[in-house]
Amino acid sequence: MLPLERLRRIVGAEHVLSAPEETFPYECDALTWLRRRPAAVVLPGGTAETAAVVAALAEAGLPFVARGAGTGLSAGALCPAGGVVIETARMKRLLALDPWNRLARVECGIANAEVSRAAEAHGLFFAPDPSSQHVCTIGGNIAENAGGPHTFKYGATARHVLALTVVLPDGRVLHTGSPLADPSGYDLTGLLVGTEGTCAIVTEATLKLTPVPPAVETLLLAFRGVEDACAAVQRVIASGLEPCTMEVMDGATIAAVEASVNAAGYPRDAGAVLILEFDGGGAAVAESAERAERLCRELEVLACERARDRAHRLKLWKGRKGAFGAMGRLAPDLLVQDAVVPRSRLAEVSARVLEIGREQGVRLSNVLHAGDGNLHPNISYDRRDADETRRVLEACACILSACVAAGGTLSGEHGIGLEKRDFMHLVYGVSDVEKMRAVRDVFNGRALLNPDKVLPAREQQTP
Ligand SMILES: Cc1cc2nc3c(=O)[nH]c(=O)nc-3n(C[C@H](O)[C@H](O)[C@H](O)COP(=O)(O)OP(=O)(O)OC[C@H]3O[C@@H](n4cnc5c(N)ncnc54)[C@H](O)[C@@H]3O)c2cc1C
Repeated sequence: MLPLERLRRIVGAEHVLSAPEETFPYECDALTWLRRRPAAVVLPGGTAETAAVVAALAEAGLPFVARGAGTGLSAGALCPAGGVVIETARMKRLLALDPWNRLARVECGIANAEVSRAAEAHGLFFAPDPSSQHVCTIGGNIAENAGGPHTFKYGATARHVLALTVVLPDGRVLHTGSPLADPSGYDLTGLLVGTEGTCAIVTEATLKLTPVPPAVETLLLAFRGVEDACAAVQRVIASGLEPCTMEVMDGATIAAVEASVNAAGYPRDAGAVLILEFDGGGAAVAESAERAERLCRELEVLACERARDRAHRLKLWKGRKGAFGAMGRLAPDLLVQDAVVPRSRLAEVSARVLEIGREQGVRLSNVLHAGDGNLHPNISYDRRDADETRRVLEACACILSACVAAGGTLSGEHGIGLEKRDFMHLVYGVSDVEKMRAVRDVFNGRALLNPDKVLPAREQQTP
């Protein structure tokens, strides 16, 4: 039975939600077609309260899940049936900022961008930059090993997390890692990052901060189509240049962005735009940008813009960072798909993705972290239309199969969650999944914490 009284005593009655109108917002994350209403939502105020809440739920034998901002795109924070959501919104303090050692110690519910804002005065920032960074939490980033446009140079979240405080699914507290370089013993911090909230609840994290580069050069290049933009990406990388980001948006995305409040002045007649950015020290950055522009101009470039100053740069980025929001104008729902292919196959797979969209009769656009071979086919639809939703899901299945067939994998950054759990067999054999399950069971043997995510049920595994 739900131990509501005990939970109220731990966190205070105002931090336990159980009325239907209170639990309704927790029915889904940003993947809106999958929904499950939790029996209750609890908002602990720190590690000790989280541990006590978890112990109470474990004793009652109830399933539970951690939830940050709920911006996840793979239904990871969806509550297990009859279970409880542990929402981290009250744990958002910056506990310590140590510019000398370039570290920040934070509670898990702090928003990603808040960390950089706090570090800015010291010439530092937190490098992982998901487009949702103004709201998504560090706990969610750690769970998903989140990436972003600058992952190409700086790497995903895993490279920027040094130590964790976590609550295990039986209520015990565990400290992993160390701010010191290369701590001895097994790297439990590295193991836990990316486990999508299936092994432990992160309550605090020690993050690595990076010096803000003194110079940044941003180019916007317009092409006839995605194929040319991808060819430009290949050329730049093959030349030995090291951009910090290479973002491609297709024509449908440009149209949606330019019709929205996030309009960035992208050429409306282009079939694709590429945002190419270099950062680092002084003159070398400008030289790299000039060289990259020359290389791209060997292809057919429809237009090229170079950011004059910070305001211009932010304007060029506004369209990209607001691209998913701009899609909200097209239909009530948006499914942001996420897959990875070898960079050399990006153009060909992107063309196949468009073809799949046509075959299934769905409205599809594509945004690519092209440097990482990571594509985001976005499908605008109305989930109240059962037939359209069926076609959207069929298109997703075809897209994932095409990516895997091209040597790719199921997710670049949004995780497996519930959405892609049953596609794991495309990439992993039974023994791979069993090894993952064995790791999960070390932490979460009773499978009470986020039980039905990531790993397919045994009976669904194909030998
Ligand atoms: C408009 C938009 C743009 C996006 N852009 C990007 C992008 O560029 N790159 C990218 O990687 N993602 C992106 N995302 C996806 C999403 O923002 C990230 O996955 C993010 O890391 C989720 O954080 P959250 O706080 O919202 O987590 P939630 O959605 O609340 O949870 C996600 C998962 O993390 C687990 N979790 C949450 N907090 C904890 C915790 N404290 N301890 C353990 N597990 C926890 C949950 O159980 C769940 O499995 C985008 C989403 C949207 C809506």
